[in-house]
Order: sequence, then C-alpha cells, then structure tokens
Amino acid sequence: MTEPFTVAIDGPAAAGKGTVSRAVAAHFGFAHLDTGLLYRAVGIQVLHGVDPIDAARGLTPDGLDNPDLRSADVAQAASKVAVIPEVRAALLDFQRAFARRAGGAVLDGRDICTVIVPQAEAQLFVTASAEVRAKRRWAELQARGDDVAFDQVLADVKDRDARDSERAAAPLKPSETAHVLDTSEMTIDEAVAAAIAVVDQKRKG
Ligand code: C5P
Repeated sequence: MTEPFTVAIDGPAAAGKGTVSRAVAAHFGFAHLDTGLLYRAVGIQVLHGVDPIDAARGLTPDGLDNPDLRSADVAQAASKVAVIPEVRAALLDFQRAFARRAGGAVLDGRDICTVIVPQAEAQLFVTASAEVRAKRRWAELQARGDDVAFDQVLADVKDRDARDSERAAAPLKPSETAHVLDTSEMTIDEAVAAAIAVVDQKRKG
C-alpha cells in the first residue's frame, strides 16, 4: 500500500495507547509515532532551563528514544508545556507530515483525531479507569527501577487527566468519529485484537 492511511489513537495517560499503537503498526506494517514523546522532549529541556517555545521550535526527531523521557517528572513537565498553544503549533507540521506519509502511519496522543488528522481513516479513543491506568503505570515505573508509591502515581494520573482535559488548547476528548475502546477489563491481547479489528474494517470499507 503506497497511499496514505492514518490510524489516529487518542486517550488519557497509561490507557494502553502505546502498546495498542505499536501492535497495530506492526500488524499492518505502518510507521508509528508516539506524539507524547514530542511533548516529553520539550518538557525535559524545560526542566534544564530552556524556554518551552524555543525548545518546541528547535525540536528534531533525534533523541526521541532517550529512556529518560519516560520518567514521571518528565511526564508532568510534558503536560505543563502541552497547555501552551505556541508549543502545540510548533509540533503540528511534523505530526501531519508523518501522518500522511506513504505506506500508512499510526499516531497516538491526545489530539490526533480532534486536531492533528481529523480526516484519519481509522480513529480510536483508548481509555480505562484512573485506578487501572495508575496500576499499569506503577508496574511500568517499578520495572524501570523507579520506586514511586502507588498513591503518588494515581495522584499524578488524575492530575494529568485534569490538565489534559481542561486545557483550552486541544483538550483531550473523543472525536465524534472515534471508536471508543475501554480497556479497563481487557487484557493487552484483547485490546490489541479489538483495535486491529476496527482498523481492518476501515481498510476494507
Ligand atoms: O502520552 P504521554 O503520557 O507520553 O504524553 C505526555 C503529555 O504530553 C500528556 O500528559 C499530554 O499533556 C501531552 N500530550 C499532548 N498531546 C499529544 C500527546 C501528548 O498534549 N498529542
């Protein structure tokens, strides 16, 4: 397939978007962009004293595989820079170009269906309860050797949910055309299978 085909996946922190997106991309042979990493890459620079708008305007895709971007502190910094309209605007063209590349692309984030690629052929909103998401994130942080208390992780998840949903610029919400996938009661395999089925249907349709 050489035509563009975009799979847009939105949802709150730790809902399973990343796992689902990577699996969908691998299944269909599409490229994958975790757009949260762009905001994290800006956030980490702000923690080092750089101005957020300068950081966003100067951002390059190099270094997005830096494992430090996955820390809880960087996640909070990312959600703070993500409320700044100029930061979001600076990251727009890169995401849109990635979405429409030949051969298909999967992008996951908060505003992919609503702002970045509203014409995306397949749209999913992957969610789960705050408690389930905090448990998943806590297990992930433990595995990385990040010894954070569960209550702290739950508070962070709720804090980011509030900031992401209540901001004026591109707030987190399901697009009218998104298929809502609540993974609270699902295993990873079930969530992945459900997402692949949605994309498959759109490709055939
Ligand atoms: O998805 P991830 O947890 O890595 O995202 C970090 C933060 O970046 C989110 O809490 C959100 O504030 C911001 N973000 C965003 N729009 C996106 C992706 C992430 O505002 N498309």
